[in-house]
Amino acid sequence: MSTSTLSFEFFPPKTTDGIEKLRENREKLAKFNPEFFSVTFGAGGSTRDRTMDTVLEIQHEGYQAAPHISCVSSSKEEIRELLQLYQTQGIKRLVALRGDVPSGEVSAGDFRYAVELVDFIRAETGDHFHIEVAAYPEFHPEARTPAADLLNLKRKVDAGADSAITQYFYNADAYFRFIDQCAATGINIPIVPGIMPIYNITQLARFSSVCGAEIPRWLKMRLEEYGDDIESLRAFGVDVVSELCETLQTWGVPSLHFYTLNRSTIISKIIENIGE
Ligand code: FAD
Repeated sequence: MSTSTLSFEFFPPKTTDGIEKLRENREKLAKFNPEFFSVTFGAGGSTRDRTMDTVLEIQHEGYQAAPHISCVSSSKEEIRELLQLYQTQGIKRLVALRGDVPSGEVSAGDFRYAVELVDFIRAETGDHFHIEVAAYPEFHPEARTPAADLLNLKRKVDAGADSAITQYFYNADAYFRFIDQCAATGINIPIVPGIMPIYNITQLARFSSVCGAEIPRWLKMRLEEYGDDIESLRAFGVDVVSELCETLQTWGVPSLHFYTLNRSTIISKIIENIGE
């Protein structure tokens, strides 16, 4: 039995059916006693109200909710208002991100990078919030160099980030080497691996090409081999991701953060496999 903690990430559903399904899946995942449930936020505040509704529902159910805030395209006034709302609602943890400007649009906000958001949150709200930021073991696609990306994380920590959640990866060595580099750079906060279960190869390939997470060749080829046999693909994916989680836990990760895509079955199997 491992001692690491868990957290789960959702996106804010759009439809009544989606809201209901998320409630059911949240209830199933709640039995694993997660430290918090986080809720994503669309760039430019496109999901602001839905993120807020989902966060408040989670909080009212008695769990700790951690809203994501992506700052690109937002004004300081909009972020200030959001922080005040979250403070009055008893939210204690935030995931602070830059976000991505939707293609074809130009950012017209007051923030360019996540570090500026972390600075702003600390200036406006002091130590009220535990601030999570994003980290990239395989490096952010826009990073000029790996060293520049690492320095960006260091700047976010110096600005007041308490912990980080990584982009997902399937190569544990990338994470271990990244953690070593962080330590050598003086980054001493917990860096929690983000875990992406495998539901579907097309969707995974699309996500990965956007966010720069590598699907190793052997894994991609094995997944492609399953073709339309989704059930076998998912069973294989459960094995692969369970093994990754076990390797990370044996190494001693502080926690595991699951990108749920608002589902629960596959994640429950993985967590049961790793003996949580
Ligand atoms: P930053 O830390 O600002 O870094 C962005 C890039 O800019 C990096 O390449 C960095 O090296 C570079 N950089 C930083 N400073 C400078 C500088 N001064 N000069 C030049 N380059 C610089 N997106 C959403 O829209 N909503 C979400 O809810 C959301 N949740 C996420 C949760 C997690 C755990 C993760 C890992 C990502 C999430 N994302 C989300 C995606 C994220 O917004 C994107 O990856 C985005 O492209 C970068 O965000 P960031 O906070 O890492 O940005």
